[in-house]
Amino acid sequence: MKCDRCENTVVYSRKYSGENLCSDCFSKSIIHKTTKTISKYNMIESGDVVGVAVSGGKDSLSLLQVMKKISLDHNFKLKAITVDEGIPGYRDEALKIVEEFCKKLNVEHKVYPYSSLFGTTLEQTLELRDNEKISSCSICGILRRRAIDYGATDLGVDVIATGHNLDDMLQTFIINIISGDTKKIGWMDPDTSKNKIRKIKPFCDIYENEIVFYAFTNEIPFQSEECPHMNEGIRTEIRNFLNSLEKTRSGIKNNMYKSILKISTTLKDSNNSEWRICSKCGNECTGEMCSVCSTLTNLRLN
Ligand code: SF4
Ligand SMILES: [Zn+2]
Ligand SMILES: [Zn+2]
Repeated sequence: MKCDRCENTVVYSRKYSGENLCSDCFSKSIIHKTTKTISKYNMIESGDVVGVAVSGGKDSLSLLQVMKKISLDHNFKLKAITVDEGIPGYRDEALKIVEEFCKKLNVEHKVYPYSSLFGTTLEQTLELRDNEKISSCSICGILRRRAIDYGATDLGVDVIATGHNLDDMLQTFIINIISGDTKKIGWMDPDTSKNKIRKIKPFCDIYENEIVFYAFTNEIPFQSEECPHMNEGIRTEIRNFLNSLEKTRSGIKNNMYKSILKISTTLKDSNNSEWRICSKCGNECTGEMCSVCSTLTNLRLN
């Protein structure tokens, strides 16, 4: 079968839109979609230094490559931030891949280990838990966000970009609903241009399977080893559930995302919680203590 846009052979059928694309046109469509998302949500300003959080997985490495391509005809620069959680046997492969990939793309890259930032690795932190009420990924996520913020300041970047895709957004929405964390739904609005620390997700309009296909077709060497904690939380179950719905009802994930955008914009506007300063570390937060300090304090008290 012939590509809808050129004479080449089709390698990808976009079910929800009915498009049939060759490898080249598919990759161009991902770059075009990302560029459109960046401009739609005012994600990058002219002259910005963008710090891409690169874990070594398919999403973040694809994002780095797509952003590099976009930067060639736009006025922004790239730097790469990698966090080392200290998970034995897991990060080593990724660190090597990221280092080589950044070198190939000529992007400055720096690694920030939990051990030097928080005086503890993720594994040591998990051992301090007296029960599994707080999931590994919740603790890891809280520490990772702080580590990336630290890296962003250290490297002097104006905006932080992460590889979260549309599927990640849907899963996060459902997790926030399940846990009653409605305030966080307001934080899901992709336009963060008025925030003090700007965090952008340029792949937020793209399905996960399309990022996987982009990585595959562009021969991006992503990490094969999965984190040993990956299936401990509910995220994988939600992911499989949404994929099973999409399988028989193409486009259902796009529809759901459109609704989430409306909800998050409304909630963001009505979320007028005042920002405060953490009594322990001086970072911005909404309570007496920030989530990093309260997590570490609670674990050490156990
Ligand atoms: S799967 Fe969970 S524990 Fe593993 S790196 Fe990701 S957030 Fe951290
Ligand atoms: Zn084509
Ligand atoms: Zn704090």
